[in-house]
Amino acid sequence: MDVILDADGVVFEWMPHILRSVGSSIDWASVRTYDVLGLLDNWKAQQARTLLAEPSWWSQVPLIYGAQQGVQALRSAGHSILWATSPWIDCYGWESVRRARLMKEFESNHDEIMMGAPKHRIMGDILIEDNVENAVRWAARNENGLPLLFIQPYNEGATNRIPRIDWSDVISAGGRFHIGGGENSRP
Ligand SMILES: [Mg+2]
Repeated sequence: MDVILDADGVVFEWMPHILRSVGSSIDWASVRTYDVLGLLDNWKAQQARTLLAEPSWWSQVPLIYGAQQGVQALRSAGHSILWATSPWIDCYGWESVRRARLMKEFESNHDEIMMGAPKHRIMGDILIEDNVENAVRWAARNENGLPLLFIQPYNEGATNRIPRIDWSDVISAGGRFHIGGGENSRP
């Protein structure tokens, strides 16, 4: 199957990393918004924006636990991977850093990487995404596709019946999915 993978919040732990980078004491597990900068005071938010404009900051964002093993499991199960990653538009050079990291850390090649915001226009069988709105928009245009929300604190309250998964689910299922409904639609 064609598996579309979001990167930020799915394999790159960028939000906790920006909070740490500006010395924020916000408890990550309690974050309930995708707009993490909006939780910071003005000074820290400005610091964060400055860092997010630096390609070098993005080059050091940690991987989410299990991400490499999870992507490997998807490949081993025979799926085609397509990265769909939306650039941080204020960071000149972001695309080069992101491409290099996907190629190095996930052994991806150039043909597996799409960069841009309108992910919902990419066809595929499965989308793994942390952003609820993106998942819903993609599902609306991919009627036979299976959207999966990657578990993050800010999508905990999602009420749209999109299954929530993390890499341990993918790894324990050997990268296989059972499309066809109900509880079985989880990997
Ligand atoms: Mg994301």
